[in-house]
Amino acid sequence: MAVRIQKKITGYSVVAADSADATPQARPDAGDAREAPARSSAEVIQMHERIERPEVLIGSTYKIKSPLVEHAMYVTINDIVLTAGTEHESRRPFEIFINSKSMDHFQWIVALTRIMSAVFRKGGDVTFLVEEMKAVFDPRGGYFKAGGVYMPSLVAELGAIVEEHLKSIGMLHDPEMSPEQRALIEEKRRLYEARSKKNADAAVAAAEAGPVGALLADQGRDGSGEDVAVTGEGTSFPPSATMCHKCSTKAVVVMDGCATCLNCGYSKCG
Ligand SMILES: [Zn+2]
Repeated sequence: MAVRIQKKITGYSVVAADSADATPQARPDAGDAREAPARSSAEVIQMHERIERPEVLIGSTYKIKSPLVEHAMYVTINDIVLTAGTEHESRRPFEIFINSKSMDHFQWIVALTRIMSAVFRKGGDVTFLVEEMKAVFDPRGGYFKAGGVYMPSLVAELGAIVEEHLKSIGMLHDPEMSPEQRALIEEKRRLYEARSKKNADAAVAAAEAGPVGALLADQGRDGSGEDVAVTGEGTSFPPSATMCHKCSTKAVVVMDGCATCLNCGYSKCG
């Protein structure tokens, strides 16, 4: 809300929260008071090409460590806040930069980031970038990230980062999972963990029983210790889990002869 000042400024005073134009008696509760000024100045600004870049933008930098590149890559996505301070305030991506010590991918990364930034600035729905990029496969093969998520290519990983960023600023949302579905996955997971713990305990008990037991038990303990370490480092699913074709995560376990994904709940038996 711009106000053109025609005369010389001779003095000023700071407007306190409770000395606003409306009298305090006219506002029965604080909720109304907060909404009222926002509504009066609500002129929604949409993203378009002619919006000039402010001097300062806020953003986030994500680190990618991929076996396909020697050095880590740092992806910075800067956002612009539109219609700031009103109920229509929205935060949108404005530009993307990728930095890395390795130069092998330099030219296509420069091209890709410039085109992506241009798409961001065009406005409209930019979320299609995520699906397009995540669908890119490297013919030389992809790789697994910590947590067991399969990345079919470096471009796909960039797509996953854009997705994460758009989720963090509220432009994308996870598909709604019903509480029942969530509870079912939790239940299956508990069941699976209980069973594998029982199996591990049985193995240790058997090893400790025999005369050769001491040695075997030590090995058993070492082995299970390693499993825990792997789990602690981001892989929250059993090490033996296989790939889920629905959510690309190594989280499928076989229970009662039925393949079940402990991440998204997908099951072969329905
Ligand atoms: Zn899944």
